Amino acid sequence: MQQPYDVVVIGGGAVGSAIARELSRYRLRIAVVERAHSAGGQAGGRATGLLHAGVLYRPGTLKAVCAVEGSQEFDAVAAELDVPFRRTGGLIVGFTDGDRKRLEQLLAQGRANGVRGLELIGRRRMDALEPCAGGSFALWCPASGVLDPRAYTAALAENAVRNGVEYFLGCSFTGETRLPGGGHVLHTTWGDLRTRWVVNSAGLNSAAVSGQLGIPGYAIQPVEDEYIALEQPAGRAVRMPVCPVPGPDGPCPPCAAPTADGGLLLGPVSRPAPPPGSAPSAQDILGGLAAGRVSHLLPQLDRAQPLRSFAGVQPHRVDPATGAAGDFVLELRDEAPGVVNLVGIGPPGLTSALPLARRAVSLIQFQEPLSPNPDFDPRRRGARRFSGAGGRTAAPGLKRGGSPA
Ligand SMILES: Cc1cc2nc3c(=O)[nH]c(=O)nc-3n(C[C@H](O)[C@H](O)[C@H](O)COP(=O)(O)OP(=O)(O)OC[C@H]3O[C@@H](n4cnc5c(N)ncnc54)[C@H](O)[C@@H]3O)c2cc1C
Repeated sequence: MQQPYDVVVIGGGAVGSAIARELSRYRLRIAVVERAHSAGGQAGGRATGLLHAGVLYRPGTLKAVCAVEGSQEFDAVAAELDVPFRRTGGLIVGFTDGDRKRLEQLLAQGRANGVRGLELIGRRRMDALEPCAGGSFALWCPASGVLDPRAYTAALAENAVRNGVEYFLGCSFTGETRLPGGGHVLHTTWGDLRTRWVVNSAGLNSAAVSGQLGIPGYAIQPVEDEYIALEQPAGRAVRMPVCPVPGPDGPCPPCAAPTADGGLLLGPVSRPAPPPGSAPSAQDILGGLAAGRVSHLLPQLDRAQPLRSFAGVQPHRVDPATGAAGDFVLELRDEAPGVVNLVGIGPPGLTSALPLARRAVSLIQFQEPLSPNPDFDPRRRGARRFSGAGGRTAAPGLKRGGSPA
């Protein structure tokens, strides 16, 4: 068997790649095993691309803390990684007295979370900020923004590789054997990998991987979110995300959000994930969203042309007994030494990727000192492709097929 790794991360999505990148600040031998044939992850590539300000999450939750931290630092992160990002701000718009009450609660919650610049505003101010938005009043969140989820996820992975992380693409983790003196043998479709630490960042599969690593009991409810994308003129006309007032715990209601590249997304319409291979119900969205449930948010939208629909599946962690929705899990348990376990990283996981990554690294640092990597370079220079480009030639640090040795 080959020389042991210090850390192997299972899952090369936004969060796994952010963790690998943060680990590469230290003198460690790091690998990422990713069952897909490109780094980029399942969820990140299909996210809406909202930089969440942190208003919607209960104070004290990991979601709230990480969203606020991730949002506040993102101008610097986007510059460092050279990814498209606009600090647009966002509006949660209200129509009724009930909406106003709920917006007041969200204002208090957002302030308790440390979100900066929140204000309840009336129609005149809305006209100045976003004339397209419907509604009589709104919660103005200047900390919100739009980013390119695919570019961001790829940039995290590219920078991790640039700093020495090895990616095994098309490589599935299948099980683990704990070594008597400490450490793990990870069984993969490429063969065995020996490592001192293992990080579970397997997204939709995180509860199953958690069980395979000796931490059973988690449950993930996959929820499919469908969107439609509109032509660019619609996106250019809308300056910022416009969302209706969300319920206390219900699914995110359909919003209208410009994309980093000038398009406009409408959605999501959420439903329990259908069986793999079934087609997204684009007609439901086109009929339901554009004509009905979103048109009150952007009354001028009627003339915009739908271009395509797409769907992504979120890992909602639920209490197996009650079905209640849960916070992100990030933990190190006595019964599974050497395992950093992340479960249920749904939204705002993209916004939270780097804050979660720093906390994951801290869990390792509590157990052993880590020496800085003097060659670590946080900047991403130029584009390096992970997939396509002939498909067979992997960039340095990327491995396809063969054996991990
Ligand atoms: C539709 C949608 C919209 C969203 N919108 C937003 C948004 O606007 N803003 C925001 O902040 N967040 C948003 N999110 C959430 C965010 O995209 C995710 O929380 C984040 O991308 C999760 O990253 P991840 O790395 O944990 O998971 P993933 O990207 O799913 O990566 C997990 C990886 O693990 C791999 N894997 C699984 N099992 C194995 C195994 N056994 N062996 C090897 N590899 C394995 C998978 O192939 C996958 O690539 C959205 C999510 C969805 C689905």
